[in-house]
Amino acid sequence: MPDASTDLTAVIAEVHRRLQATYGEPRRRGCSDPVGSLVQTILSQNTSDVNTARSYASLRAAFPDWHAVMTAPAEAVVDAIRAGGLANQKAPRIQAALRAIYEIREDFDLSWLAELPVAEARSWLTSLPGVGNKTASILLLFCFDMPAFPVDTHVHRVTRRLGLAPASASPDQVMRIIEAHAPPEWFYPLHLNLIRHGRAVCKAQKPRCDGCVLANLCASKNVASTAPAG
Ligand code: SF4
Repeated sequence: MPDASTDLTAVIAEVHRRLQATYGEPRRRGCSDPVGSLVQTILSQNTSDVNTARSYASLRAAFPDWHAVMTAPAEAVVDAIRAGGLANQKAPRIQAALRAIYEIREDFDLSWLAELPVAEARSWLTSLPGVGNKTASILLLFCFDMPAFPVDTHVHRVTRRLGLAPASASPDQVMRIIEAHAPPEWFYPLHLNLIRHGRAVCKAQKPRCDGCVLANLCASKNVASTAPAG
């Protein structure tokens, strides 16, 4: 991490500025269906984007609405999402999450989350089975524009390599560090641009340090073999 004399916020600001200059301001994706987004993030666990999309489309085609998914026999939900893998684990998580949502107001509206402080909203979401801080933060940031910073595998790897967080930091610790040192308006573009950088340049294996726009800020430049692969 930057030493005590270095202002972490200033380093994050420079990372953010250079990533914006390289990748641009990410376009805001709409989120018309927060419950659908929550279900998709549960489906995305340990599988590819393609398989997530396939299993989500199959689930939506198999049932007319969320109430029908919630009340269906578990095997029917397992069958509908089989394409995404781990269907036996994900189906009960989805049904339990839907029941918890329905119990609040007898509908599948989550807009009340936006009225809560972010810590409270995150705490409620992470009380759902299979929902961790990453999933909760994605939902809060993308659907409700709340000040939550999601840390996926790319963000986790790149931030630790840069030295914005200790090499041993967990994703939740990285989340807390960034949330404490960056203003909320950076969360959305920083999250998406760190993912882009992690996919294109700061790859898990063989990061391309020579062409990296963050190289002179980075604690792990050209020491990829010892840097966290994430
Ligand atoms: S210099 Fe290398 S390790 Fe550091 S952010 Fe760039 S690609 Fe990743």
